[in-house]
Amino acid sequence: MKFEVTILGSSSATPVFNRNPTAQLLNCKDKFYLIDCGEGTQQQLIRFGLKASKIDVAFISHLHGDHYFGLVGLLSTMNLNGRIKPFQIFAPAALMEILEIQFRYSETNLRFEIDFCPITADEPRIIFQNQDMTVETIILNHRIPCTGFKFTEKKRLRKVLVEKLEKDNVAPEYYQLLKKGMDLTLPDGRVLMNEEYTIDSDEPKSYCYCSDTMADGSYLDSIRNCTMLYHEATFMDDMIERANVTHHTTALQAGRVAKDVGAGKLLIGHFSSRYKTLLPLLEEAQGVFANTELALEGITFTV
Ligand SMILES: [Zn+2]
Ligand SMILES: [Zn+2]
Repeated sequence: MKFEVTILGSSSATPVFNRNPTAQLLNCKDKFYLIDCGEGTQQQLIRFGLKASKIDVAFISHLHGDHYFGLVGLLSTMNLNGRIKPFQIFAPAALMEILEIQFRYSETNLRFEIDFCPITADEPRIIFQNQDMTVETIILNHRIPCTGFKFTEKKRLRKVLVEKLEKDNVAPEYYQLLKKGMDLTLPDGRVLMNEEYTIDSDEPKSYCYCSDTMADGSYLDSIRNCTMLYHEATFMDDMIERANVTHHTTALQAGRVAKDVGAGKLLIGHFSSRYKTLLPLLEEAQGVFANTELALEGITFTV
């Protein structure tokens, strides 16, 4: 069962050579969710062999351009490519106005419906649920209203003990009922107690996406014990004054956040264009939280 994220962009504010503004593609059980959509996202999808037509939902954190300037282009391309199935967008309310103006003046009539779901950055809320996962907002502290997103897998079915079942001559056709936690009576009269033939599945995994924010601790309860945390790390810690003024985070602070909340793994991204090489940022975060990686474009991380 897939639960993984591919980095499409990891730059803050402006693109630099080899780094695009923020965008990520989450794959949960072969359903695709876009997280932010910086300029050039559709090019990145093509570059990494990912199909825009498979994406049905987008989550936009806030209305700084480096997080959504790619959306109009992407939607226009979907239209030109004949999309007819609806596209769902979770974003601050004003984004719909922005999209409508662009479509109105380009006389673009989308052939598919945009199911626009406004989100507010006041308190954490569950905004999306399906059979695979739940999405909850994380209230961040940025210069304008900004929400992160916590993606949590739904609890998986129980695991069957195949060797024991084979030894006891239980046909595979009964496995699915056992996975659902049921006790069974077989045609030959034998009763299978579920607890003897299954074990509990792993705890549901979670992916937290935190961009952009200052690391003021206000949102830590929302991301506690997550399996994988993406946290912005725009600056090195020698620029903490700049980070505070612009409501961003340093690599050192991102490491501290991951440590404080007991995250399993940390990805850092949203790097300032001033950094030509990213190794110092990685080392700074790893000094506090060893299991840190750079959110480099084209890399897919399993949650
Ligand atoms: Zn940004
Ligand atoms: Zn921003």
